[in-house]
Amino acid sequence: MQDKLIIALSKGRIFKETLPFLKAAGIEPEDDPEHSRKLILDTNQEDVKLLVIRATDVPTYVEHGGADLGVAGKDVLMEHGGSGVYEPLDLRIARCRLMVAGQPDVDLEGSRRLRVATKFVNSARRYFADKGQQVEVIKLYGSMELAPLVGLADCIVDLVDTGGTLKANGLVPLEHICDISSRLIVNKASMKMKQARVRQLMNAMSAVVPRGD
Ligand code: AMP
Repeated sequence: MQDKLIIALSKGRIFKETLPFLKAAGIEPEDDPEHSRKLILDTNQEDVKLLVIRATDVPTYVEHGGADLGVAGKDVLMEHGGSGVYEPLDLRIARCRLMVAGQPDVDLEGSRRLRVATKFVNSARRYFADKGQQVEVIKLYGSMELAPLVGLADCIVDLVDTGGTLKANGLVPLEHICDISSRLIVNKASMKMKQARVRQLMNAMSAVVPRGD
């Protein structure tokens, strides 16, 4: 793999929003992942390949050298934890907020142990621990908004963009945990061994990062 540059991406929003960055670096995929079942996509550059994998697997592939580079949401990186990859560039795409949300009348500061439903278990534990609050974290894989409605949890920790999903389910944003955007990540060995190519890619991508709010 020494001669190749492998970039890991997830389907959907991250793939679409990463295309202009790749284009700025002269890289254009030969296939559209929405219409292809291929997991390795060829590009116009023979030695550059794109891996199309689950968003939560991107840091794992990059950390262990299955890919040289990747694009992953900060939410995914925070859940993955550790310092196994370099994170040199905030692409400022797929922006949203990680928030605590619940029914408007919920008491988050009450004396009993709060039940928090989320797929972001590590981020949720860390957030409440930093506030000195003991919570029970309930792991879910999706549709978190349902949990407070049926009494499974007092609140949720989820990504919020427009707030439309919360509103449609009678929930409100309660506490802002952090801002989220997608980041370019780099395998530590690739940063050394393929330094010139990785730097060239990083510079080209950084030149087209959207500025302002
Ligand atoms: P919204 O209704 O616009 O607040 O969007 C909230 C829903 O979209 C939640 O279920 C989130 O999981 C998802 N979502 C919003 N923004 C992002 C993002 N940048 N990355 C991944 N999922 C997101």
